[in-house]
Amino acid sequence: MTKFIVIASAKGGAGKTTTAINLAALFGAMGKNITLIDADLTAPNISAYLGLPDVPVTLHDVLRGKNRTSEAIYLHPSGFKIMPAGASMLNEDFKKPFSSVALDIVGKTELAIIDSSATLGRETLDALRSADETIVVANPEMPSVLDAKRTIEAAEDSGSIIPGIVVNRARNGKNEISISEIKSMLQKPVIGIIPEDKSMRLSLLMKQPIVHTHPNSPASKGFKELANMLK
Ligand code: ADP
Ligand code: MG
Repeated sequence: MTKFIVIASAKGGAGKTTTAINLAALFGAMGKNITLIDADLTAPNISAYLGLPDVPVTLHDVLRGKNRTSEAIYLHPSGFKIMPAGASMLNEDFKKPFSSVALDIVGKTELAIIDSSATLGRETLDALRSADETIVVANPEMPSVLDAKRTIEAAEDSGSIIPGIVVNRARNGKNEISISEIKSMLQKPVIGIIPEDKSMRLSLLMKQPIVHTHPNSPASKGFKELANMLK
């Protein structure tokens, strides 16, 4: 069977895309058959983060009913499959729901990791409804934790299970909300703590996951612990 995990947070810049890419890279390296889906339809950036060339068919073409789901899946050199998104028109109405794209890949991949948008609009709710599990990413700051709370409510309303919270850009408790406060505000376990890491910029420039460019950096260690916990 195929497991679907959405990486979500109602806040932009929390680290959804970074988390989705690094988990895909780590699970891919473990030999799992992984598909990373860019379901951030309005502001997709997996292709830019990973330096993917312009591809002929994207998730957008599938949602528009122009192409089959299998035509929008590409093998990334680092060992996982990617379904990139294209460009969206504002408030575009798609012919095919995201849930039916998800159904198309059932049985064809072991784990689908879905990167989602920073809104709780239709595109995110569609992704949440397709998910078995939702991992909520939050930064240790009050606005981010409040947005995480809203994301948890939306995910649970959509019938998705939340294994826990990933706290990203943690700075060792300096001028930030503590992990125990986050746990008690969100009433969920914290399953990953990813430190603020200055190597992240370099990995972006190198257009590769940080777990590949800087495998021993603090963020990479955090992502590895998270992947081990989820596997
Ligand atoms: P989102 O997908 O939630 O909008 P991104 O994953 O795109 O967030 O991250 C936003 C920015 O923050 C990116 O420039 C990314 O490289 C940077 N970033 C993410 N996590 C970290 C971290 N742990 N340390 C330093 N920079 C980070
Ligand atoms: Mg993103």
